[in-house]
Amino acid sequence: MKSARLYGHDDLRIEDVPDPRAGSGEAVVEIHASGVCPSDIRSYTGSGTAKRDPWTPGHEVAGVITELGDGQTGGFSVGDRVVLDWRGVCGRCHECARGAANFCENLVKFPIAGFAEATVMPVGQLRAVPDGLSLEAASFCEPLACVVNAHRGLAMPLACNVLVVGAGPIGLLHTQVARSRGARVIVADMKADRLATATALGAHDVVDASAGDTRQAVRALTEGRGADVVIVTVGSPAVISSAFELVARNGAVNLFAGTHPKGTVELNPDVPHYDQVAITGSHDFVPNDFATALRLLGFGMVDVAPLISHRFSLDSVVDAFETTRQQKGLKSLVVTGR
Ligand SMILES: [Zn+2]
Ligand SMILES: [Zn+2]
Repeated sequence: MKSARLYGHDDLRIEDVPDPRAGSGEAVVEIHASGVCPSDIRSYTGSGTAKRDPWTPGHEVAGVITELGDGQTGGFSVGDRVVLDWRGVCGRCHECARGAANFCENLVKFPIAGFAEATVMPVGQLRAVPDGLSLEAASFCEPLACVVNAHRGLAMPLACNVLVVGAGPIGLLHTQVARSRGARVIVADMKADRLATATALGAHDVVDASAGDTRQAVRALTEGRGADVVIVTVGSPAVISSAFELVARNGAVNLFAGTHPKGTVELNPDVPHYDQVAITGSHDFVPNDFATALRLLGFGMVDVAPLISHRFSLDSVVDAFETTRQQKGLKSLVVTGR
């Protein structure tokens, strides 16, 4: 079969590799949709974790089971449509036991290797795609699960003001989840087309961060108070700093994005102290977040169709990576067209 293999910086090749075979308790999944994630781009440009051997990126993946190994099938059959969860958690360690399986002490990171024609995974890492949900849409399950993890940690009373900073694919997922939770959602971004998509996906108000004073605009929309929850989806220290000027007293700032390259932010400690502002973060997801993400997609509570700006064949995977690297459009998917 064909597989994309990353040899080093800017060196991603399509190669013929042996077809995967299902061992005991495993399934071969023919891949139909595989999303390009900013973390894939960091590996591609060399700004991410260095790996010595050639490897196949791709962890936002949906496909169809074509083969099941002996033993446990997890209730799956050949032909079932599935999404793949790369996080193998033990369910028994200290972190898993207290509901924080995103920090599982025995985590197994299954290399999904999604930019290929097929892959093999333990059946326990597969989740059935609801009827009526396309495999393209289902491939958003992994990033949406990360968004769900953030929301589990954020109080969001009905009609509170939520500001989403950044209207990229992640910001647009946050926008819809916050809207589903009954919040009044404000979205800030520098790009007019992204703000238009945010409005189409349910944002009540948008702020053009390229024009004028974002702080003033957010204050004007919130009776001078700032937002009760600020979700920062941009990993820039300057943008993160600005969040503390946009949040209301007794509010919360969620730092959803890591900084790349690594950066530091000066914090006025009187903001968390006197204004009682909580600073939270979120990373990865627990298995139930993955299930919740599938339900959000399956029930139509989160619409990802407007987020898919580019589709590429596997042969054009380099174009898909370059498109995301140049921040063209929103999400690039590698699809088989089936
Ligand atoms: Zn990702
Ligand atoms: Zn564990």
